[in-house]
Amino acid sequence: MTHYLNYINGEWQESASNRKYQSINPANTSEIVGEVENSVAAEVDKAASYSQQAYLSWKKLAGAERGQYLYKTADILESRLEDIAETMTREMGKTLPEAKGETARGVALLRYYAGEGMREEGDVIPSTDAAALMLTKRVPLGVVGVITPWNFPVAIPIWKMAPALIYGNTVVFKPALEASVTAAKVIECFDEAGLPSGVINMVNGEGAEIGQRIVDNPQINGITFTGSDKTGKIVGQGALNRGAKYQLEMGGKNPVIVTKDADIDLAVEATISGGLRSTGQKCTATSRVIIDESIYSTFKEKLLEKVAKITVGNGLHPETWMGPSVSDKQLNTVLDYIEIGKNEGATLIHGGNRLTDNELDQGYFVEPTIFENVTTDMRIAQEEIFGPVLALMKVKDLGEALTIANDVEFGLSASIFTTNIQNMLDFIDDMEAGLVRINAESAGVELQAPFGGMKKSSSHSREQGQAAKEFYTNTKTVFIKG
Ligand code: ADP
Repeated sequence: MTHYLNYINGEWQESASNRKYQSINPANTSEIVGEVENSVAAEVDKAASYSQQAYLSWKKLAGAERGQYLYKTADILESRLEDIAETMTREMGKTLPEAKGETARGVALLRYYAGEGMREEGDVIPSTDAAALMLTKRVPLGVVGVITPWNFPVAIPIWKMAPALIYGNTVVFKPALEASVTAAKVIECFDEAGLPSGVINMVNGEGAEIGQRIVDNPQINGITFTGSDKTGKIVGQGALNRGAKYQLEMGGKNPVIVTKDADIDLAVEATISGGLRSTGQKCTATSRVIIDESIYSTFKEKLLEKVAKITVGNGLHPETWMGPSVSDKQLNTVLDYIEIGKNEGATLIHGGNRLTDNELDQGYFVEPTIFENVTTDMRIAQEEIFGPVLALMKVKDLGEALTIANDVEFGLSASIFTTNIQNMLDFIDDMEAGLVRINAESAGVELQAPFGGMKKSSSHSREQGQAAKEFYTNTKTVFIKG
């Protein structure tokens, strides 16, 4: 079994706590994937203090020089892609092809942000004083705290840490314990690339202790968080109280609308892919399917036929299409919501059970699950489940579909399947979501485009692409007169 220490000031260090966390395989709970430190809050303070010292020289480097470190990290991650992807599958359950795709995305993210080191960092603005030069300059925040979830254990840490670093910040990183071995392997790549000591630090441990200390540590000037809505509120409020900059990406309750003129086969494919891949454990996963009544039964039949063929199992097996829920806790949440749906009066038309045959009882497997006769006031239509559960809703027209689609507190991502241009335009205008996708699944994200939600899904900032610069820098307005 591999054991990973904390990474502080360029050294792998044991926690003073003497506590370890064992990360287990959700497809086979008797397998321990690895062990990490279960640290104490003082270790965050230590990491932040080294990170603050490292910041003073890291910010002085040219962006192009910082970029070289990211290019090197990308090459190392690429050379270890197979091993890291396999670790990801063992540790959090997604299928191996998905894990490889995610790791490759990590490589692409590093290269994208490496190039950012040579792009513009401000604007020249004409002064009313003709003899003066006025300009803006982007400057780093200082030490940035990075708190991440388990569902994308390579991509999310990298889409936060790479922009933080390229714009001149240093990092204290706390991954989710459920994916901490994968995260440690990512940090090994940065270490091997030779980043100066203290520029990147990782402290493993519980959210309430280590995450909370990142929120509260006065040396940490910016906090970027992806996770649940409940924790996001705690992080945002803590950061606001002490004047730290913060960015939150939280849940979704993402709809797909299927209009009467849709390509039904395409819509079925995308609903399955967007809703059930990664066992529904994506914040952009489709969870509500809002279908025009005139095509409802055709869509439902085709959907049921395809869902019946889904193979559930260990993500390392080539025939597996859908892996397990990440943990006992997550599995129970999914099973609880299935009960809630039944009690609320929704009709279960597929799945609904834990899977235990053929050794699946060794892991946290649940059937792909579909409800119909779901109404918008039901909890299964309002609350994020983070599991392979789809709620079908029948509507009269696009107007009603959009009203229902918007009738949730979240606003991350949404899709429509239609061939009608006016429907597309109405959807773009009226859908309250940060990502609106036409004839494409709700869960697609491209690293060079802004990513983030409306309403309760985010703190209204955006990640990835050029948008990342907004969070990871401050703007200084400079006025110069000779
Ligand atoms: P999930 O339900 O996906 O585990 P969480 O929001 O609980 O989502 O976790 C996301 C990240 O936030 C994890 O790294 C977790 O350890 C961390 N976290 C949990 N509680 C806190 C907290 N009070 N302060 C800061 N971070 C926290």
